[in-house]
Amino acid sequence: MSKAQAKKTEPQDAIQVEVETWGAFIDGEFVPAECGETFPTFNPSNGQVVGHLAQCDEEDIDKAVRAAQAAFPAWKRKTAAARASALMKLAGLVRSHGPKLAELESINAGKPIRDSRAIDAVTAIDALEYFAGIASKVQGDTIPVPGPYINMTLREPLGVIGGIIPWNYPLLQAVWKIAPAIAVGNTVVIKPAEQACLSVMYLGKLCQEAGIPAGVVNIVPGYGHTAGTALVDHHVVAKIMFTGSTETGKKIAALAAQTLKPVGLELGGKSAIVVYEDAPIDQAAALAATSIFSNQGQVCTAGSRLFLHERIKDQVLDKVVKAAQKVRIGDQLDPKTTMGPLISARQKDRVQGYIESGKSDANLVYSHAMPDGLEDGHFVGPHIFDEVENWMKIAREEIFGPVLSVLTFKDETEVLALANDSPYGLAASVITRDIGRAMRAAQSFEAGNIWINTWGAVSSMAPYGGYKQSGYGREMGFAVVNEVTQEKNVWVSVR
Ligand code: ADP
Repeated sequence: MSKAQAKKTEPQDAIQVEVETWGAFIDGEFVPAECGETFPTFNPSNGQVVGHLAQCDEEDIDKAVRAAQAAFPAWKRKTAAARASALMKLAGLVRSHGPKLAELESINAGKPIRDSRAIDAVTAIDALEYFAGIASKVQGDTIPVPGPYINMTLREPLGVIGGIIPWNYPLLQAVWKIAPAIAVGNTVVIKPAEQACLSVMYLGKLCQEAGIPAGVVNIVPGYGHTAGTALVDHHVVAKIMFTGSTETGKKIAALAAQTLKPVGLELGGKSAIVVYEDAPIDQAAALAATSIFSNQGQVCTAGSRLFLHERIKDQVLDKVVKAAQKVRIGDQLDPKTTMGPLISARQKDRVQGYIESGKSDANLVYSHAMPDGLEDGHFVGPHIFDEVENWMKIAREEIFGPVLSVLTFKDETEVLALANDSPYGLAASVITRDIGRAMRAAQSFEAGNIWINTWGAVSSMAPYGGYKQSGYGREMGFAVVNEVTQEKNVWVSVR
């Protein structure tokens, strides 16, 4: 890492980020891209440059993969306790550098600082500590096969794992890829998203400080179509773990098939929240609003389809509108801000395109008045559409913005069918006091993550992933251990 420019960004509520140039983190060092180029990264609320990144491509990816390959045998042979201790050291550093990581996350990804402080680093620490504990729990089985044999399985790491991550939760996504993989003895090459990766580069610095051996964690910034595809295509890489859009996930799966590389895909969603007529109105409205307005709606599990029973629809909708009115949109570094900018001009155009489509199909009941002074940022405020039907574009496609589609239903069979009538299957929520109805919904939903009387709860201890076109494979929990290891079967003759 070099400090190419001593320039500071404009003072924003006492938070200043030094504009630095980050090399790729390869083999324990920050190094420039082989081509010598860099690309800028921005504050999405004002377009200011907040950092420069090495513009890595195939050559740099190859260098990182070779470093990870070289580091693998020794890392794999380390005791589980040694790997756990490295993860615990990293967790401690993420904790002590939490405020800095939160600032980088906010300034670069547009996330309100109060959320970055409360959620991102905290959840990352939890994952690092959980997987430190998992390191010593990985084991095989003995199988009572017939005949004069002892049969056993050995559970082994895969080798070099490529992690490709998005811009909506950069730090967290990086940790969700790195922690399980290295806990069980793999080494990793992470390709962060070009739009927001400062916190991930900083994490590289913390890996160095934690004494994680050179080559075990490599972080290579660059564009998806160059660095990303090179990582997917690299013949040494044993597996790709990807989080991002369904469209890119399909491209990655297709390219990975050329080298028969397994892929874990955590993709988009169009998640349903079903509110029955017996639901507590305030709680339902608060959950619905949080689910679609958090992180500007740039959340894979956003509750973007809100199904309201006709008897309570007006009451819940009224309260969701009131919650939208209370959203404080603006500079994400202001602790009072509850909604920052979208990540990019492209994302803003996309979201506005969906709003136009909604206006022609459904009934726009709320459009947030934009305060003055936000013209240089990619801001889009909360929008709520009523009278949405499930065939409409705003009910079928992932918007990834603060745009809520409200649909009305009369009975259980109808609403469960509608909730499942989606190409996606990442998450679904049901809000009711009737336990039978709640459990029938949990059984019926075609989605990987179900919430009853809540929304958005995640834990390092619980498996997370999608059904249908929301992807395959699981992150977190013990389930991810199977994703980052392979099983070897051993026959021993006792004759
Ligand atoms: P978005 O469309 O919002 O940028 P993506 O799903 O395309 O989201 O991006 C998620 C991650 O995937 C980013 O790190 C991006 O650079 C990477 N990526 C994009 N396209 C490809 C590709 N064809 N191959 C590999 N990685 C890619």
